[in-house]
Amino acid sequence: MKTKAIRDPKIIAAWQLAATGSKWQFKLVIASLFIAFLCLGFGIFLQNIFVIGFFFAMAFIALAANAAIRLNLACPHCTQCPLNPFILSQPASIEFCPHCFYWLKSPW
Ligand SMILES: [Zn+2]
Repeated sequence: MKTKAIRDPKIIAAWQLAATGSKWQFKLVIASLFIAFLCLGFGIFLQNIFVIGFFFAMAFIALAANAAIRLNLACPHCTQCPLNPFILSQPASIEFCPHCFYWLKSPW
């Protein structure tokens, strides 16, 4: 395993450009997740099955938007997606690609 990441200004610039383009998608994921859990809470509180149904709809939108980010974003060096599928993180905040260890953000 490599312990030192490689720094290439071209890779960093390319990633930052791609990540800023997906910012609104990330906001959509956060917003739909927020509404989904709000609906779940209200649905249980009001004991209304339709509101709980809305939770599934919003959760689906969140998953679809998250999948869209994953499909559209790839590491400019190894073309694999550097996002962790289990952690919801903003693409622009990712520091390096876990596949090829290239910096995606300037370390200094
Ligand atoms: Zn990579």
